[in-house]
Amino acid sequence: MSEELTEYKGAATMEKIASLAKRRGFVFQSSEIYGGQSGAWDYGPLGSELKNRIAANWWKEMTQLNDNIVGIDSAILMHPRAWEASGHVENFTDPLVDCKKCKARFRADHLSPEEIASKKCPECGGELTPARKFNLMFKTLIGAIEDDANAIYLRPETAQGIYVNYKNVIQSSRMKLPFGIAQIGKAFRNEIVTKNFIFRTCEFEQMEMQFFVKPGTDTEWFDEWKKRRWAYYEKLGVKIDHLRWHQHGQDELAHYAKGAYDIEYLFPMGWKELEGVHNRSDYDLSRHTLYSGKDLQYIDQDDGGKKYTPLIIETSAGLTRTLLMLLCDAYDEEKVADKGNEDDWRTVLRFHPSVAPITVAVLPLMKKDGLAELAKDIRNDLRQDFSTDYDQSGAIGRRYRRQDEAGTPFCVTVDYESKENGTVTLRFRDSMEQTRLNRNELAARLSAEIKNYRRT
Ligand code: ATP
Repeated sequence: MSEELTEYKGAATMEKIASLAKRRGFVFQSSEIYGGQSGAWDYGPLGSELKNRIAANWWKEMTQLNDNIVGIDSAILMHPRAWEASGHVENFTDPLVDCKKCKARFRADHLSPEEIASKKCPECGGELTPARKFNLMFKTLIGAIEDDANAIYLRPETAQGIYVNYKNVIQSSRMKLPFGIAQIGKAFRNEIVTKNFIFRTCEFEQMEMQFFVKPGTDTEWFDEWKKRRWAYYEKLGVKIDHLRWHQHGQDELAHYAKGAYDIEYLFPMGWKELEGVHNRSDYDLSRHTLYSGKDLQYIDQDDGGKKYTPLIIETSAGLTRTLLMLLCDAYDEEKVADKGNEDDWRTVLRFHPSVAPITVAVLPLMKKDGLAELAKDIRNDLRQDFSTDYDQSGAIGRRYRRQDEAGTPFCVTVDYESKENGTVTLRFRDSMEQTRLNRNELAARLSAEIKNYRRT
Protein backbone atom coordinates (compact mmCIF):
# COMPACT_ATOMS: atom_id res chain seq x y z
CA MET A 1 0.00 0.00 0.00
CA SER A 2 1.26 3.46 -0.85
CA GLU A 3 1.71 5.99 1.92
CA GLU A 4 -1.36 8.07 2.68
CA LEU A 5 -1.39 11.57 1.22
CA THR A 6 -1.55 14.24 3.87
CA GLU A 7 -2.42 17.18 1.69
CA TYR A 8 -4.09 17.84 -1.64
CA LYS A 9 -1.56 18.60 -4.38
CA GLY A 10 -3.75 18.67 -7.49
CA ALA A 11 -4.54 21.65 -9.69
CA ALA A 12 -8.13 22.09 -8.49
CA THR A 13 -9.39 24.58 -5.93
CA MET A 14 -13.04 24.88 -4.95
CA GLU A 15 -13.11 28.34 -6.54
CA LYS A 16 -11.78 27.01 -9.86
CA ILE A 17 -14.21 24.09 -9.81
CA ALA A 18 -17.19 26.32 -9.03
CA SER A 19 -16.18 28.81 -11.69
CA LEU A 20 -15.68 26.15 -14.37
CA ALA A 21 -18.95 24.50 -13.31
CA LYS A 22 -20.82 27.74 -13.86
CA ARG A 23 -19.01 28.76 -17.06
CA ARG A 24 -19.57 25.41 -18.75
CA GLY A 25 -23.09 24.74 -17.47
CA PHE A 26 -22.44 22.02 -14.90
CA VAL A 27 -23.83 23.70 -11.79
CA PHE A 28 -25.61 27.02 -11.17
CA GLN A 29 -26.59 28.68 -7.94
CA SER A 30 -30.27 28.05 -7.17
CA SER A 31 -32.52 31.07 -7.90
CA GLU A 32 -29.46 33.09 -8.87
CA ILE A 33 -31.47 36.01 -10.27
CA TYR A 34 -32.94 36.51 -6.78
CA GLY A 35 -29.54 36.56 -5.15
CA GLY A 36 -29.32 32.77 -4.74
CA GLN A 37 -30.76 30.25 -2.28
CA SER A 38 -28.12 28.83 -0.01
CA GLY A 39 -27.95 25.07 0.39
CA ALA A 40 -29.50 24.42 -3.04
CA TRP A 41 -27.98 24.18 -6.53
CA ASP A 42 -29.24 23.69 -10.06
CA TYR A 43 -27.63 21.34 -12.56
CA GLY A 44 -27.19 22.75 -16.06
CA PRO A 45 -26.98 20.98 -19.43
CA LEU A 46 -23.60 19.33 -18.79
CA GLY A 47 -24.22 18.87 -15.06
CA SER A 48 -27.58 17.13 -15.43
CA GLU A 49 -26.07 14.86 -18.07
CA LEU A 50 -23.12 14.07 -15.78
CA LYS A 51 -25.46 13.42 -12.83
CA ASN A 52 -27.67 11.12 -14.94
CA ARG A 53 -24.65 9.19 -16.15
CA ILE A 54 -23.21 8.74 -12.66
CA ALA A 55 -26.62 7.53 -11.50
CA ALA A 56 -26.94 5.14 -14.47
CA ASN A 57 -23.45 3.82 -13.86
CA TRP A 58 -24.14 3.16 -10.16
CA TRP A 59 -27.55 1.63 -10.96
CA LYS A 60 -26.01 -0.74 -13.47
CA GLU A 61 -23.25 -1.70 -11.04
CA MET A 62 -25.69 -2.40 -8.19
CA THR A 63 -28.68 -3.93 -9.98
CA GLN A 64 -27.84 -5.18 -13.47
CA LEU A 65 -24.48 -6.68 -12.51
CA ASN A 66 -25.87 -8.46 -9.44
CA ASP A 67 -28.31 -11.39 -9.45
CA ASN A 68 -29.81 -10.49 -6.12
CA ILE A 69 -30.32 -6.73 -6.05
CA VAL A 70 -33.45 -4.99 -7.30
CA GLY A 71 -34.33 -1.31 -7.42
CA ILE A 72 -37.23 0.76 -6.12
CA ASP A 73 -38.26 4.41 -6.24
CA SER A 74 -40.13 5.33 -3.08
CA ALA A 75 -41.86 8.61 -2.18
CA ILE A 76 -40.08 11.53 -0.54
CA LEU A 77 -43.07 12.00 1.79
CA MET A 78 -43.53 9.14 4.23
CA HIS A 79 -45.83 8.47 7.16
CA PRO A 80 -44.49 10.54 10.10
CA ARG A 81 -44.42 7.43 12.31
CA ALA A 82 -41.72 6.01 10.02
CA TRP A 83 -39.37 8.77 11.22
CA GLU A 84 -40.20 8.06 14.85
CA ALA A 85 -39.45 4.39 14.25
CA SER A 86 -36.20 5.15 12.44
CA GLY A 87 -34.98 7.24 15.36
CA HIS A 88 -34.69 10.41 13.28
CA VAL A 89 -37.24 12.44 15.29
CA GLU A 90 -35.29 11.76 18.45
CA ASN A 91 -31.70 11.39 17.28
CA PHE A 92 -31.12 13.01 13.90
CA THR A 93 -29.53 16.07 15.39
CA ASP A 94 -26.33 17.98 15.04
CA PRO A 95 -24.77 19.94 17.91
CA LEU A 96 -25.14 23.63 17.06
CA VAL A 97 -23.04 26.45 18.52
CA ASP A 98 -23.37 30.16 17.77
CA CYS A 99 -20.89 32.98 18.11
CA LYS A 100 -22.49 35.65 20.33
CA LYS A 101 -20.44 38.36 18.61
CA CYS A 102 -20.39 37.72 14.84
CA LYS A 103 -23.41 35.34 14.81
CA ALA A 104 -21.52 32.70 12.82
CA ARG A 105 -22.86 29.15 13.27
CA PHE A 106 -20.83 25.99 13.65
CA ARG A 107 -21.32 22.29 14.13
CA ALA A 108 -19.61 21.53 17.44
CA ASP A 109 -18.43 18.17 16.06
CA HIS A 110 -16.61 20.03 13.26
CA LEU A 111 -14.64 22.22 15.70
CA SER A 112 -11.30 21.07 17.12
CA PRO A 113 -11.10 20.03 20.80
CA GLU A 114 -9.01 23.20 21.41
CA GLU A 115 -11.68 25.42 19.86
CA ILE A 116 -14.38 23.75 21.95
CA ALA A 117 -12.32 24.08 25.13
CA SER A 118 -11.54 27.77 24.51
CA LYS A 119 -15.22 28.56 23.73
CA LYS A 120 -13.85 31.13 21.26
CA CYS A 121 -15.24 31.70 17.76
CA PRO A 122 -12.69 30.48 15.14
CA GLU A 123 -13.64 33.44 12.94
CA CYS A 124 -13.73 36.48 15.25
CA GLY A 125 -12.61 35.23 18.67
CA GLY A 126 -16.05 36.07 20.18
CA GLU A 127 -17.71 33.91 22.81
CA LEU A 128 -19.40 30.67 21.66
CA THR A 129 -22.74 29.50 23.11
CA PRO A 130 -22.95 26.00 24.63
CA ALA A 131 -23.88 23.32 22.06
CA ARG A 132 -27.58 22.59 21.61
CA LYS A 133 -29.23 19.84 19.63
CA PHE A 134 -30.67 20.82 16.28
CA ASN A 135 -32.87 18.38 14.33
CA LEU A 136 -31.91 18.30 10.65
CA MET A 137 -35.25 17.18 9.25
CA PHE A 138 -37.31 19.64 7.23
CA LYS A 139 -40.83 19.72 8.61
CA THR A 140 -43.81 20.91 6.58
CA LEU A 141 -47.58 20.53 6.58
CA ILE A 142 -49.74 18.23 4.52
CA GLY A 143 -53.44 18.98 4.04
CA ALA A 144 -55.44 21.73 2.38
CA ILE A 145 -56.46 23.76 5.43
CA GLU A 146 -53.68 24.78 7.73
CA ASP A 147 -55.64 24.09 10.92
CA ASP A 148 -56.34 20.49 9.96
CA ALA A 149 -53.00 19.90 8.38
CA ASN A 150 -50.59 17.34 9.75
CA ALA A 151 -46.88 17.70 10.17
CA ILE A 152 -44.84 15.72 7.69
CA TYR A 153 -41.13 15.51 6.92
CA LEU A 154 -39.08 15.68 3.76
CA ARG A 155 -37.02 12.48 3.92
CA PRO A 156 -33.46 13.01 5.18
CA GLU A 157 -32.29 9.72 3.62
CA THR A 158 -33.67 7.31 1.04
CA ALA A 159 -33.03 4.21 3.18
CA GLN A 160 -36.29 4.25 5.16
CA GLY A 161 -38.32 4.03 1.94
CA ILE A 162 -36.50 0.76 1.30
CA TYR A 163 -37.13 -0.73 4.76
CA VAL A 164 -40.86 -0.05 4.71
CA ASN A 165 -41.08 -1.75 1.29
CA TYR A 166 -38.95 -4.76 2.13
CA LYS A 167 -41.93 -7.10 2.54
CA ASN A 168 -43.57 -5.80 -0.67
CA VAL A 169 -40.37 -6.51 -2.58
CA ILE A 170 -40.06 -10.04 -1.19
CA GLN A 171 -43.66 -10.82 -2.02
CA SER A 172 -43.66 -9.30 -5.50
CA SER A 173 -40.18 -10.30 -6.67
CA ARG A 174 -39.75 -13.61 -4.82
CA MET A 175 -36.38 -12.45 -3.47
CA LYS A 176 -34.57 -14.75 -1.04
CA LEU A 177 -31.98 -13.80 1.53
CA PRO A 178 -29.33 -12.55 1.01
CA PHE A 179 -30.65 -9.84 -1.29
CA GLY A 180 -30.47 -6.09 -1.75
CA ILE A 181 -32.71 -3.17 -2.65
CA ALA A 182 -31.20 -0.13 -4.36
CA GLN A 183 -32.60 3.36 -4.64
CA ILE A 184 -31.49 6.73 -6.01
CA GLY A 185 -33.32 9.86 -4.97
CA LYS A 186 -33.52 13.24 -3.32
CA ALA A 187 -32.92 13.74 0.37
CA PHE A 188 -33.21 16.90 2.45
CA ARG A 189 -31.32 18.02 5.54
CA ASN A 190 -31.46 21.39 7.24
CA GLU A 191 -27.67 21.58 7.45
CA ILE A 192 -26.25 24.09 9.92
CA VAL A 193 -23.33 24.98 7.70
CA THR A 194 -23.40 24.60 3.93
CA LYS A 195 -20.11 25.42 2.29
CA ASN A 196 -17.58 24.05 -0.17
CA PHE A 197 -19.85 24.44 -3.18
CA ILE A 198 -22.09 21.36 -3.56
CA PHE A 199 -20.29 19.25 -0.93
CA ARG A 200 -22.87 19.72 1.82
CA THR A 201 -26.26 21.02 0.77
CA CYS A 202 -29.79 21.06 2.16
CA GLU A 203 -31.21 19.36 -0.93
CA PHE A 204 -29.11 16.57 -2.42
CA GLU A 205 -29.32 13.12 -3.95
CA GLN A 206 -28.28 9.79 -2.54
CA MET A 207 -27.53 6.38 -4.06
CA GLU A 208 -28.26 3.82 -1.39
CA MET A 209 -28.37 0.04 -1.29
CA GLN A 210 -29.67 -1.98 1.63
CA PHE A 211 -28.54 -5.60 1.73
CA PHE A 212 -30.64 -7.98 3.86
CA VAL A 213 -28.78 -10.94 5.35
CA LYS A 214 -29.28 -13.87 7.69
CA PRO A 215 -28.21 -13.33 11.33
CA GLY A 216 -24.66 -14.50 11.85
CA THR A 217 -23.56 -13.60 8.30
CA ASP A 218 -23.45 -9.80 8.69
CA THR A 219 -19.70 -9.51 9.39
CA GLU A 220 -18.88 -11.47 6.26
CA TRP A 221 -21.24 -9.37 4.10
CA PHE A 222 -20.01 -6.14 5.66
CA ASP A 223 -16.46 -7.03 4.54
CA GLU A 224 -17.72 -8.08 1.13
CA TRP A 225 -19.54 -4.79 0.55
CA LYS A 226 -16.52 -2.80 1.68
CA LYS A 227 -14.47 -4.62 -0.98
CA ARG A 228 -17.07 -4.14 -3.69
CA ARG A 229 -17.54 -0.43 -3.08
CA TRP A 230 -13.80 0.20 -3.10
CA ALA A 231 -13.52 -1.76 -6.37
CA TYR A 232 -16.28 0.41 -7.83
CA TYR A 233 -14.21 3.59 -7.45
CA GLU A 234 -11.19 1.79 -8.91
CA LYS A 235 -13.31 0.86 -11.92
CA LEU A 236 -14.44 4.48 -12.29
CA GLY A 237 -10.77 5.38 -12.67
CA VAL A 238 -10.68 7.63 -9.59
CA LYS A 239 -7.18 8.49 -8.27
CA ILE A 240 -6.66 5.67 -5.79
CA ASP A 241 -4.22 7.62 -3.60
CA HIS A 242 -7.08 10.11 -3.05
CA LEU A 243 -9.24 7.42 -1.42
CA ARG A 244 -8.98 5.96 2.07
CA TRP A 245 -11.07 4.21 4.70
CA HIS A 246 -12.14 5.86 7.91
CA GLN A 247 -13.55 3.63 10.62
CA HIS A 248 -16.08 5.27 12.92
CA GLY A 249 -15.05 5.28 16.56
CA GLN A 250 -17.62 4.53 19.30
CA ASP A 251 -18.31 8.26 19.70
CA GLU A 252 -19.07 8.69 15.97
CA LEU A 253 -21.36 5.70 15.45
CA ALA A 254 -24.92 6.58 14.42
CA HIS A 255 -27.73 5.42 16.70
CA TYR A 256 -28.46 2.43 14.44
CA ALA A 257 -24.94 1.29 13.61
CA LYS A 258 -23.09 -1.78 14.82
CA GLY A 259 -20.10 -0.92 12.63
CA ALA A 260 -19.37 1.84 10.14
CA TYR A 261 -16.66 2.73 7.66
CA ASP A 262 -16.53 5.76 5.40
CA ILE A 263 -14.78 5.90 2.08
CA GLU A 264 -13.12 9.29 2.19
CA TYR A 265 -11.79 11.29 -0.75
CA LEU A 266 -9.01 13.85 -0.65
CA PHE A 267 -10.84 16.97 -1.88
CA PRO A 268 -9.02 20.30 -2.30
CA MET A 269 -10.31 21.19 1.20
CA GLY A 270 -8.99 17.92 2.69
CA TRP A 271 -10.14 14.35 3.39
CA LYS A 272 -13.95 14.17 3.47
CA GLU A 273 -16.62 11.47 3.49
CA LEU A 274 -17.80 10.26 0.11
CA GLU A 275 -19.73 7.15 1.03
CA GLY A 276 -20.66 5.21 4.14
CA VAL A 277 -20.72 1.43 4.44
CA HIS A 278 -22.67 0.52 7.57
CA ASN A 279 -23.63 -2.58 9.48
CA ARG A 280 -27.09 -1.53 10.71
CA SER A 281 -27.83 -4.82 12.50
CA ASP A 282 -31.57 -5.59 12.87
CA TYR A 283 -32.26 -2.11 14.20
CA ASP A 284 -34.35 -0.83 11.28
CA LEU A 285 -36.65 -3.77 10.71
CA SER A 286 -37.11 -4.35 14.45
CA ARG A 287 -38.09 -0.71 14.96
CA HIS A 288 -40.51 -0.69 12.01
CA THR A 289 -42.03 -3.92 13.36
CA LEU A 290 -42.50 -2.26 16.73
CA TYR A 291 -43.96 1.01 15.41
CA SER A 292 -46.13 -0.38 12.61
CA GLY A 293 -47.33 -3.48 14.45
CA LYS A 294 -46.63 -5.49 11.26
CA ASP A 295 -44.59 -8.66 11.36
CA LEU A 296 -41.50 -7.98 9.23
CA GLN A 297 -39.77 -11.26 9.97
CA TYR A 298 -38.39 -13.36 7.15
CA ILE A 299 -39.55 -16.94 6.73
CA ASP A 300 -36.54 -18.94 5.66
CA GLN A 301 -37.82 -21.79 3.47
CA ASP A 302 -34.26 -22.99 3.01
CA ASP A 303 -33.92 -23.42 6.77
CA GLY A 304 -37.07 -25.34 7.66
CA GLY A 305 -39.36 -22.29 7.67
CA LYS A 306 -37.42 -20.59 10.49
CA LYS A 307 -38.54 -17.01 11.24
CA TYR A 308 -36.12 -14.19 11.99
CA THR A 309 -35.50 -10.47 11.44
CA PRO A 310 -32.82 -9.94 8.77
CA LEU A 311 -29.76 -7.83 9.47
CA ILE A 312 -28.87 -5.00 7.12
CA ILE A 313 -25.63 -3.89 5.48
CA GLU A 314 -25.96 -0.47 3.87
CA THR A 315 -23.90 1.28 1.23
CA SER A 316 -24.81 4.96 1.16
CA ALA A 317 -23.22 7.34 -1.34
CA GLY A 318 -24.09 10.91 -2.24
CA LEU A 319 -24.84 11.33 -5.93
CA THR A 320 -24.25 15.07 -5.91
CA ARG A 321 -21.17 14.59 -3.72
CA THR A 322 -19.84 11.97 -6.15
CA LEU A 323 -20.35 14.51 -8.93
CA LEU A 324 -18.23 17.04 -7.01
CA MET A 325 -15.61 14.36 -6.34
CA LEU A 326 -15.45 13.49 -10.05
CA LEU A 327 -15.12 17.16 -11.03
CA CYS A 328 -12.18 17.53 -8.60
CA ASP A 329 -10.66 14.19 -9.59
CA ALA A 330 -10.90 14.92 -13.31
CA TYR A 331 -9.69 18.53 -13.15
CA ASP A 332 -6.28 19.22 -14.61
CA GLU A 333 -4.34 22.15 -16.00
CA GLU A 334 -1.68 21.33 -18.53
CA LYS A 335 0.88 23.28 -20.51
CA VAL A 336 0.53 22.38 -24.15
CA ALA A 337 2.97 23.19 -26.87
CA ASP A 338 0.83 22.59 -29.92
CA LYS A 339 0.63 25.21 -32.67
CA GLY A 340 4.09 26.42 -31.70
CA ASN A 341 2.71 28.36 -28.74
CA GLU A 342 4.81 27.18 -25.79
CA ASP A 343 2.85 29.23 -23.27
CA ASP A 344 -0.50 27.77 -24.14
CA TRP A 345 -2.36 26.15 -21.22
CA ARG A 346 -5.43 24.03 -21.27
CA THR A 347 -7.93 23.11 -18.59
CA VAL A 348 -9.09 19.57 -19.03
CA LEU A 349 -11.56 17.33 -17.21
CA ARG A 350 -10.30 13.78 -17.49
CA PHE A 351 -13.62 12.05 -16.85
CA HIS A 352 -13.91 8.33 -17.39
CA PRO A 353 -15.80 7.94 -20.71
CA SER A 354 -18.52 5.95 -18.93
CA VAL A 355 -19.63 9.08 -17.07
CA ALA A 356 -18.43 11.96 -19.31
CA PRO A 357 -21.46 14.13 -20.21
CA ILE A 358 -20.46 14.10 -23.89
CA THR A 359 -18.66 11.01 -25.18
CA VAL A 360 -17.84 12.23 -28.66
CA ALA A 361 -18.01 15.64 -30.35
CA VAL A 362 -18.08 15.91 -34.13
CA LEU A 363 -16.38 18.99 -35.55
CA PRO A 364 -16.21 20.05 -39.19
CA LEU A 365 -12.93 21.80 -39.99
CA MET A 366 -14.91 24.41 -41.99
CA LYS A 367 -18.61 25.17 -42.21
CA LYS A 368 -18.44 25.45 -45.98
CA ASP A 369 -17.91 23.10 -48.94
CA GLY A 370 -20.28 20.47 -47.55
CA LEU A 371 -18.10 19.69 -44.50
CA ALA A 372 -20.82 20.75 -42.04
CA GLU A 373 -23.37 18.47 -43.72
CA LEU A 374 -20.94 15.56 -43.73
CA ALA A 375 -20.09 16.10 -40.04
CA LYS A 376 -23.80 16.23 -39.13
CA ASP A 377 -24.35 13.01 -41.01
CA ILE A 378 -21.52 11.33 -39.09
CA ARG A 379 -22.94 12.63 -35.82
CA ASN A 380 -26.33 11.17 -36.74
CA ASP A 381 -24.66 7.79 -37.23
CA LEU A 382 -23.15 7.97 -33.74
CA ARG A 383 -25.94 9.52 -31.69
CA GLN A 384 -27.98 6.34 -31.20
CA ASP A 385 -25.13 4.69 -29.33
CA PHE A 386 -23.15 7.55 -27.82
CA SER A 387 -23.77 10.87 -26.12
CA THR A 388 -22.73 13.28 -28.89
CA ASP A 389 -22.18 16.96 -29.52
CA TYR A 390 -21.71 18.97 -32.70
CA ASP A 391 -19.74 22.21 -32.83
CA GLN A 392 -18.88 24.24 -35.91
CA SER A 393 -18.12 27.65 -34.43
CA GLY A 394 -14.64 29.11 -34.01
CA ALA A 395 -11.14 27.91 -34.76
CA ILE A 396 -10.63 24.17 -34.40
CA GLY A 397 -8.06 24.61 -31.59
CA ARG A 398 -10.57 26.60 -29.54
CA ARG A 399 -13.23 23.98 -30.15
CA TYR A 400 -10.87 21.26 -28.85
CA ARG A 401 -10.25 23.38 -25.73
CA ARG A 402 -14.00 23.76 -25.17
CA GLN A 403 -14.46 20.00 -25.37
CA ASP A 404 -11.46 19.46 -23.06
CA GLU A 405 -13.15 21.69 -20.48
CA ALA A 406 -16.39 19.75 -20.86
CA GLY A 407 -14.45 16.51 -20.32
CA THR A 408 -15.29 15.05 -23.75
CA PRO A 409 -12.91 12.10 -24.23
CA PHE A 410 -13.11 11.93 -28.05
CA CYS A 411 -13.43 14.42 -30.89
CA VAL A 412 -14.01 13.51 -34.52
CA THR A 413 -12.82 16.07 -37.05
CA VAL A 414 -14.19 16.13 -40.55
CA ASP A 415 -11.97 17.76 -43.21
CA TYR A 416 -11.51 17.88 -46.99
CA GLU A 417 -9.93 14.44 -47.05
CA SER A 418 -13.07 13.08 -45.35
CA LYS A 419 -15.03 14.18 -48.42
CA GLU A 420 -12.63 12.47 -50.75
CA ASN A 421 -12.07 9.13 -49.06
CA GLY A 422 -14.48 8.86 -46.10
CA THR A 423 -11.76 9.03 -43.43
CA VAL A 424 -11.93 11.27 -40.34
CA THR A 425 -9.58 12.26 -37.52
CA LEU A 426 -10.18 10.84 -34.06
CA ARG A 427 -8.61 13.00 -31.33
CA PHE A 428 -8.01 11.72 -27.81
CA ARG A 429 -8.61 14.22 -25.01
CA ASP A 430 -5.96 12.95 -22.58
CA SER A 431 -2.98 12.60 -24.92
CA MET A 432 -4.25 15.03 -27.60
CA GLU A 433 -3.00 12.45 -30.10
CA GLN A 434 -4.88 12.01 -33.34
CA THR A 435 -5.40 9.08 -35.62
CA ARG A 436 -7.08 8.71 -39.00
CA LEU A 437 -9.68 6.05 -39.67
CA ASN A 438 -12.64 5.35 -41.91
CA ARG A 439 -15.93 6.76 -40.65
CA ASN A 440 -17.41 3.25 -40.82
CA GLU A 441 -14.92 2.08 -38.19
CA LEU A 442 -15.73 4.88 -35.74
CA ALA A 443 -18.49 3.25 -33.66
CA ALA A 444 -16.54 0.04 -33.08
CA ARG A 445 -13.34 1.94 -32.29
CA LEU A 446 -15.09 4.24 -29.81
CA SER A 447 -16.73 1.27 -28.05
CA ALA A 448 -13.33 -0.41 -27.72
CA GLU A 449 -11.69 2.80 -26.47
CA ILE A 450 -14.40 3.25 -23.81
CA LYS A 451 -14.10 -0.35 -22.66
CA ASN A 452 -10.32 -0.28 -22.43
CA TYR A 453 -9.98 3.27 -21.10
CA ARG A 454 -7.21 3.88 -18.55
CA ARG A 455 -6.41 7.37 -17.44
CA THR A 456 -2.78 8.19 -18.12
P1 ATP B 1 -22.20 14.17 8.03
O1 ATP B 1 -21.92 13.55 9.37
O2 ATP B 1 -20.97 14.60 7.30
O3 ATP B 1 -23.25 15.22 8.08
P2 ATP B 1 -23.45 11.71 7.49
O4 ATP B 1 -22.38 10.79 7.99
O5 ATP B 1 -24.63 11.96 8.33
O6 ATP B 1 -22.81 13.06 7.05
P3 ATP B 1 -24.80 9.85 5.86
O7 ATP B 1 -26.07 9.99 6.59
O8 ATP B 1 -23.98 8.64 6.12
O9 ATP B 1 -23.93 11.17 6.09
O10 ATP B 1 -25.11 10.03 4.32
C1 ATP B 1 -24.61 9.16 3.34
C2 ATP B 1 -24.00 9.93 2.19
O11 ATP B 1 -24.91 10.92 1.72
C3 ATP B 1 -22.75 10.71 2.59
O12 ATP B 1 -21.60 9.89 2.51
C4 ATP B 1 -22.72 11.81 1.55
O13 ATP B 1 -22.12 11.35 0.35
C5 ATP B 1 -24.20 12.07 1.28
N1 ATP B 1 -24.66 13.25 2.04
C6 ATP B 1 -25.06 13.29 3.33
N2 ATP B 1 -25.42 14.53 3.68
C7 ATP B 1 -25.24 15.30 2.60
C8 ATP B 1 -25.43 16.68 2.33
N3 ATP B 1 -25.91 17.52 3.24
N4 ATP B 1 -25.13 17.14 1.09
C9 ATP B 1 -24.65 16.31 0.12
N5 ATP B 1 -24.46 14.99 0.32
C10 ATP B 1 -24.74 14.49 1.54
